[in-house]
Amino acid sequence: MAETLRVFINEKPVEVARGAAVRDAVARHDRALADLLASDAAYVTDGVGRRIDPADAVGEAGAVFRVIVTARRGPPQLSRDALRRWPKAELHVHLDGCLRPATMLELAKAQRVRLPADTPQALAAALTVKGASSLEEYLTKYQYTLAVLQTAAALERVAYEFVLDVAAENVRYVEVRYSPLLHRPALTMVQAIEAPLRGIKRAEAETGTKVGLIVCGIRTRPAAESLELARAAVDYRTVGLVAFDLAGAERGHPAREHRDAFAHASRHGLACTCHAGEGDGPESIREALHVCGAQRIGHGTRLSEDAALLEEVVARRVPLEMCLTSNLHTHTVTAIAEHPFRRYLERGVQASLNTDGRLMDGITLTDEYFLAHTALGLTREQLARVVLNACESAFLPDYEKVALVSRVQSELEAL
Ligand SMILES: [Zn+2]
Repeated sequence: MAETLRVFINEKPVEVARGAAVRDAVARHDRALADLLASDAAYVTDGVGRRIDPADAVGEAGAVFRVIVTARRGPPQLSRDALRRWPKAELHVHLDGCLRPATMLELAKAQRVRLPADTPQALAAALTVKGASSLEEYLTKYQYTLAVLQTAAALERVAYEFVLDVAAENVRYVEVRYSPLLHRPALTMVQAIEAPLRGIKRAEAETGTKVGLIVCGIRTRPAAESLELARAAVDYRTVGLVAFDLAGAERGHPAREHRDAFAHASRHGLACTCHAGEGDGPESIREALHVCGAQRIGHGTRLSEDAALLEEVVARRVPLEMCLTSNLHTHTVTAIAEHPFRRYLERGVQASLNTDGRLMDGITLTDEYFLAHTALGLTREQLARVVLNACESAFLPDYEKVALVSRVQSELEAL
C-alpha cells in the first residue's frame, strides 16, 4: 500500500501521508490558510459542503476538501517569523504550564512519576487543553506538571529552561507565576520560593532577558494559606519576587475571602494582580479591584459586561493581562473572532497579549501575536502598542520600567 496519497484542497492536489489529518493537508497546501483554520477564522467542508473536523484523518485517495475563510480582514502583512523577531514582553504565564515535554519525561523517570505518555510529542498532545469544557477542566491538566515539580532541583531547572525558551523568541521582559503552596509538603515555603529564583537568576545572566516572579494564592484553598504566602513573599521583594496573585477556579470562590493576603502584600510594597473575569463575570473583576486592591487584572475578558467598570478600567489605566488562545480553550470565548481584545484595545484599555501556559495551550508568545494579527486583524501599529502596553504594565520600579520601554521602543522602530 502506498505510503502517501493524493487529496484535493480547494481543487489543488496535495500529497499527504496515509492517515494524516485534514489540517495537515491544508498546511501542505497553504500555511497561511492552516493558521486561519487553527485560529477559527476558517473551516473545512467535504466535497458536498458538509462541515468536517480538521483533526479528522483525510481518509481515501482522491478525497476533496474545501477551506472556507470566515474572518480574514485583508492578507496578513506580518509573518510569524517577523513577529518572532519583534522584541516582546509577557506578563501572564504559569511556570507549571510551561515545561519542556522532554524535561518532564526526564524528571518523571528520575522521580518514578507516572505520566500519560512516554514520548515528548505524545506527552504534549496529552497535556494540551484544547477541547476542555471549562476553566475547571483546564486546571486538571496541571496535576501532571506539578507531579514532577516537587523537588527544588526540578523547580530550578524548569524556571531556568522557561527563561531560555522565552528569550529565544525575543521576549525582553517576562513575569512568570506559580504557587509555592502547590509544592508543599515536599518543599518548605522558603525552598519553594528560592528554587525558581535561582533558575531565573542564572538564565537572566545568560540571556539578558529580565524576569519577575509572581506567587499565586489559590482561590479554592484556605485564606490563611494565601496570607501565609503573602507574608513569605514580601521577604523576597528585593530579589526578584515582584507580585502576589490569586489563581484557581473562579466561580464560587470569591477573591474577597483572600483580601487579608492582598492587604498584607500591598502594605509591604508588593504589587498585586488577580485572575478575574475569566471563569466568572465582571463582579469578580470589581471585587479584585475594589476589595482586594489589585493593580492589574489577569484576563478581564468579561469586563465589557459592565459598562461602568469598563469606563473605570480605561480611566484608571488598569492593565489587563489578556490570553486569547487560553480563553478559547477554557470556553471563556466561543471563537477567537469573538474575543474582545481588539475592542478593548481600541477603547483605550491598556491590554497586553500573553500565553498563560505554553505547554498546556500549545503556543508561544509569537503565536499569540500572530493570531491577533491574522484572526483579529490587529495592525502593525496596534501590535507595537500591545508590546509597549506590556512593558508599561510591568511590575518594575519606575526607573527600570522607563529603561525597558525605551529599549523596546527603539528596537521596534529599528525593525
Ligand atoms: Zn492564568
